[in-house]
Amino acid sequence: MMINSADSTLSGALAEATERALVEAELRLPPDVLAVLRRAAATERNEIARQEFTNILENVELARERRVPICQDTGVPVVYITLPPDVPFSASLFTGVREGVHRATAAIPLRPNVVDPLTRENTGDNTGVGVPVVHVAPGDRFTVTVLPKGAGSENVSRIGMLLPSQAAEVPKFVVETVLLAGGRPCPPVILGVGIGGTFDAAAALAKEALLLPVDAMDRYEQEICDTVNALGIGPMGLGGDTTALAVKVKRADCHTASLPVAVNVQCWACRRATVEVRW
Ligand code: SF4
Repeated sequence: MMINSADSTLSGALAEATERALVEAELRLPPDVLAVLRRAAATERNEIARQEFTNILENVELARERRVPICQDTGVPVVYITLPPDVPFSASLFTGVREGVHRATAAIPLRPNVVDPLTRENTGDNTGVGVPVVHVAPGDRFTVTVLPKGAGSENVSRIGMLLPSQAAEVPKFVVETVLLAGGRPCPPVILGVGIGGTFDAAAALAKEALLLPVDAMDRYEQEICDTVNALGIGPMGLGGDTTALAVKVKRADCHTASLPVAVNVQCWACRRATVEVRW
């Protein structure tokens, strides 16, 4: 394959930006996530839950100070690129992101989490067939956003194809997902909810919802969050007022005969970072 110099520059710039974004995401929680954790810690009434918040916040602080990952499960890399009109859409985008993940895995270092789904053979550098997962969308600026996704919370995520007549049942589906998950996703959780689209689009919306700021919710999101918190699962599943820190919803229109709903569960370690790509 011929690679022209513009392509290799683009690929190199994206590799550098992806590596920087992963360093930032793995070592430091975003300010909005830290703010909701601190807010919940200040209002939590359960003594064991308060201790769990102390442990979580100390963990976050130590990771920042010692420049080590916030959690031993450093996730699988999910990457979102925004592309302004003057940046060409080409294979270089994907090779650049892949190289950035490869470098970050060695430099930070990250746990090599990516395996063949059936043989379970580890690729060794967090890249593989279909990994990193890369989404590209048009935008005003050339940016790369990383969302390293841990398995504990990903594994309890759920999708449902509700009946069109069940719009009022959507909150129940979300709450039921958290109830079924219990303490497994390392609560307190953040819930990304995708409503509408198709089977696959709803799941993509749910994950994109995790990129939204979590320090503000609309009324619909707040009501679901309050119902989830009434479950009393609490931090790390040990009981308490705080099972969810936030619920974020993204919607798309759908077929008149469909109502897809996806819930992407995210643990408190909601790691994400955005870096502007310069080339
Ligand atoms: S669910 Fe989150 S906090 Fe728990 S082990 Fe996985 S990445 Fe870490």
